[in-house]
Amino acid sequence: LCTASHENLIWQGEQLRVIRADDAHFPAFYRVIWQQHAAEFSDLCAAERASCMAAVVAVEQVLRTQLTPHKVNLASLGNMVPHVHWHVIARFEWDTHFPQPIWAPPQRPPNMPKLQQLGGKIETTDAAIRLALGSAWGA
Ligand SMILES: [Zn+2]
Repeated sequence: LCTASHENLIWQGEQLRVIRADDAHFPAFYRVIWQQHAAEFSDLCAAERASCMAAVVAVEQVLRTQLTPHKVNLASLGNMVPHVHWHVIARFEWDTHFPQPIWAPPQRPPNMPKLQQLGGKIETTDAAIRLALGSAWGA
């Protein structure tokens, strides 16, 4: 994640960028990625951590407003990629894994009509994220 490649970039600034994961079963799955290399969240200074979490909150708020999910999941794992990034995922009772984490075994097959409906709102959601982050960071 030190260098971006094949990412669906939604917004970026000097400190961080927001991408959308392009996961067929989780259309509203975003990542907030710290631009500079840092393995652990505690490698960032307090101001940087605050800035990172402000971006996470901004994405979460957009997902709530645009998609009214049953829950927003926030996760920072980084076991596979030790570079600070936060997952921000809109979750629905009908999704393949609810109420389990998206990395757990699936609970049910995909609900195609619901997925299609959700997919139709994603461009608007991307735009709202750009707007929210652009105004917060003065971009
Ligand atoms: Zn890195």
